[in-house]
Amino acid sequence: MSTLRFFAIKETLNRKPVEILEGKRRSELFGENVFNKETMRQSLTKDAYESVNSAIEKGTKIDRNIANQIAQSMKDWALSKGVTHYSHWFQPLTGTTAEKHDAFFETIDDGGAIEKLGGSQLVQQEPDASSFPNGGIRNTFEARGYSAWDPTSPAFIFGTTMYVPTVFVSYTGEALDNKTPLLRALNAIDNASVAVCKYFDKNVKKVNASLGWEQEYFLIDSALVSSRPDILLTGRTLLGHSSAKGQQLDDHYFGTIPTRATAYMRDLEIECMLLGIPVKTRHNEVAPNQFELAPIYEEANLAVDHNSLLMDVMNKVAERHNFKVLFHEKPFKGVNGSGKHNNWSLSTNTGINLLSPGKTPMSNLQFLTFFINTIKAVHDNEELVRATIASASNDHRLGANEAPPAIISVFIGEQLTSVLKELENVTNGKLSPKEKTDLKLNVVGKIPEILLDNTDRNRTSPFAFTGNKFEFRAVGSMANCANPMTLINSIVAKQLMDFKVEVDALISKKELKKDEAIFNVLREYIKKSSNILFEGNGYGEAWEIEAAKRGLSNNKTTPEALKAKISDKTIAMYKSVGVMNRVEVQSRYDIEMEDYILRVQIEGRVLGDLARNHVVPTAIKYQNTLISNVQGLKAIYEDDFKRVAHAQLELIEDISERVDIINTTVTKMINKRKDANTIDDLERKATVYCKEVKPMLDEIRYHCDKLELLVDDELWPLTKYRELLFTT
Ligand code: ADP
Ligand code: MG
Repeated sequence: MSTLRFFAIKETLNRKPVEILEGKRRSELFGENVFNKETMRQSLTKDAYESVNSAIEKGTKIDRNIANQIAQSMKDWALSKGVTHYSHWFQPLTGTTAEKHDAFFETIDDGGAIEKLGGSQLVQQEPDASSFPNGGIRNTFEARGYSAWDPTSPAFIFGTTMYVPTVFVSYTGEALDNKTPLLRALNAIDNASVAVCKYFDKNVKKVNASLGWEQEYFLIDSALVSSRPDILLTGRTLLGHSSAKGQQLDDHYFGTIPTRATAYMRDLEIECMLLGIPVKTRHNEVAPNQFELAPIYEEANLAVDHNSLLMDVMNKVAERHNFKVLFHEKPFKGVNGSGKHNNWSLSTNTGINLLSPGKTPMSNLQFLTFFINTIKAVHDNEELVRATIASASNDHRLGANEAPPAIISVFIGEQLTSVLKELENVTNGKLSPKEKTDLKLNVVGKIPEILLDNTDRNRTSPFAFTGNKFEFRAVGSMANCANPMTLINSIVAKQLMDFKVEVDALISKKELKKDEAIFNVLREYIKKSSNILFEGNGYGEAWEIEAAKRGLSNNKTTPEALKAKISDKTIAMYKSVGVMNRVEVQSRYDIEMEDYILRVQIEGRVLGDLARNHVVPTAIKYQNTLISNVQGLKAIYEDDFKRVAHAQLELIEDISERVDIINTTVTKMINKRKDANTIDDLERKATVYCKEVKPMLDEIRYHCDKLELLVDDELWPLTKYRELLFTT
């Protein structure tokens, strides 16, 4: 083993887990560092509290004077906890989070200083935003982006800084972040759902979308990561032969969590408690060194913030434990990748989960209404659904080798399938009294309240109904949940608006009773969207063929998939629900296309370097050893040397051939990148990177990995898969 690899591993094995003392119960720590309702009630005047509360519940504006009071209380609370700085915290379109810290510290006239936070500083800030991606919305000379307080997500303390969650918008009002469209989508789904709920219950005033994410990740020792430039710079391994043992024994999933990983998780969970992130579940995932963490679900905006915050905190806590967290969707070839299931549902202010079957036929009809409208929304927008989760890294997880296809389908389970079959036969127009009773009692009335156990069997579906929620499973582990949440809430809001129009029309024009009208519209929806329903193996080849027959899209790569984001249909949809205008949609598309190009470009550069400066020189060094060996044998055996040097000669040739292929392919790849970089049109450029540059990465890797198997282990400079995946 090379000295570099030897020391990296030795250092890892000597590590002791950092233990932190708990003392208190977790429930006592929960939300301790959050300026939540409880804290506000204690520290704000009645007026101020009511004002924030109404901003949270009803979206009303907060008056300047009140903002001053709130800022003052927030500052006092933060100072009492040893905080020195505050920061507007936002989610720019890079997909991560951004922060700029300011001290509370202010000088005063007499030369002294005080701690201060004014209302205006709390409510709005103007960070220099010229370096965030904006897709051409703002010219850099007027690079003004404003961050504005989002009172629906509470301020929190991490370290010695108080963070205020904010939206980030341009001077002209366009969204420059992931949160703004999300808040608009949540508003749209609220309005559309409340309007539909009125058919069933006049008391419904507000509908909240909920999100429960499940975060998968790999934990790798940081010393080992430092010895791998590819992981360091791209988040994944660009080469490396698979380990003799991988995940084939299925011994990692739900296995005993390694001690060092447990210590990390404990530390992380305590930080989460303090931050009010309700983490609950932790376990090993399928691949070695792969884990999952899931919270109790929350209101979607808060849950999205909590996931972004969690990813930051995971990185920070990992530093203490000398781990590096890999969020990449496919860090290692040949073992499972990571995803982030988004569990989504809708609940009313009256405490009803609209995606949970109820106790009465009427509440079940309400359930079916939301259930079927969601299916219809996914059906009508399947290509956009696929586009929303597209990224260079998620391409390795969807539509690639050893990965499920990039086809969107919905799994609902046997029982609900048969309910939909029966509803498909509802009479067109008025229903006979017998049919009405039959529908109510035998079809709708028969949906069991607890579907959970019957529905969660199929783990291969990208969008599955799991008893009381839909689970969007195709989301990548690196993704910001704001995007899938903006999408689902927007398409379902649009669908519910259309549904209401159709039902109202049947009631007024055809004089149908409300229930009759609803049954009639739902029947048509079931017929129209049945193509999206699929109960079989979503990972099988047969499904790709079947899906093509059904006319479902199968966009395997990001450049192909993203097109659906700027179709006229998409732009009209986002406009109709007031979530994004054409400029905002287009700018996001541009940013994502560019992100794709840049990521493949960086991977190309890193692999070129690894291949030329690490692999090839090492192979040649080993080849030289073989050559001197052959020369020695020749001196001893003279003409007979070929008999004894047979293996060495073969190895020498094999190395030469592979070195030659690697070297020429690296040159070709560099030239192809140069060509591609002259193309202005983003889609064409991304396509060249995807179809012409990327395959060369695979070609180079293939031969590097073969060399890894040939070359003396003592010389090989790069930490191997078995070391990365099996050292904890
Ligand atoms: P798994 O998918 O691993 O079997 P579960 O189905 O138990 O796990 O739950 C996964 C996630 O779904 C958790 O984060 C949980 O809080 C969330 N969840 C449960 N009910 C809902 C709901 N009504 N709305 C949104 N998320 C939910
Ligand atoms: Mg799940």
